[in-house]
Amino acid sequence: MPYCPDCMNDTLKLKKNGVIEVFINGKSLSTGRFIFNQIKDSQDDIKNNIYQKIEEYLLWCNNLQNKPPITNIELLTADFFCENQCTFMPGFKHSIIEIIITQQELIDLVTKLCVKHEYKLLWPKDKSDIETI
Ligand SMILES: [Zn+2]
Repeated sequence: MPYCPDCMNDTLKLKKNGVIEVFINGKSLSTGRFIFNQIKDSQDDIKNNIYQKIEEYLLWCNNLQNKPPITNIELLTADFFCENQCTFMPGFKHSIIEIIITQQELIDLVTKLCVKHEYKLLWPKDKSDIETI
């Protein structure tokens, strides 16, 4: 379990439902967020939503004169709670990577999309290390 920013114990848990925001190269489109509900949605439903949101971003970037390489992807949500009932600082958000989707699954998904839409992928930074293993 991730660490709580307040009590520093590994007691941070994702709520059953909330909103996930997709940040690419540090930016999030106004449409770059979606609601998740772990009771109603399967893990695959949530992963499909992540796929769709990243694809929407790439399609939006297609309108720009130069397609920026993808250097950073973050999946963040404020919808965590601490088992010790801590209250978080306003603006607190935490990644759902390794909670809803593994880093490797996300890399595979983004790689597929970047190939499909002809984007250069420079993420994660140590990707070449991963590929040679
Ligand atoms: Zn706590």
